[in-house]
Amino acid sequence: MSDERTPQRSTAPRKKRPFQRRKVCRFCADKQVSIDYKDPRTLRYFISERGKIIPRRISGNCSKHQREITEAIKRARNIALLPIASAHVMP
Ligand SMILES: [Zn+2]
Repeated sequence: MSDERTPQRSTAPRKKRPFQRRKVCRFCADKQVSIDYKDPRTLRYFISERGKIIPRRISGNCSKHQREITEAIKRARNIALLPIASAHVMP
């Protein structure tokens, strides 16, 4: 690699992220919460304002549940429960 331009590249203290990390995914933690494509309230938690799916490293889901969420969101989009993209943005 080429040398860096930053002169002091020492051990900078890690800044805390705005998103607090969850130890476990909320679906593993709470068995009562089911992933249902007919339940946009739960799914909305995992999509951004623009209608994009929140990545796993931010949502904190495990891969199994993240996949279920993704499937559910895609299904919900198909039947227009969730937006594919925020095409109609309110001014
Ligand atoms: Zn899980």
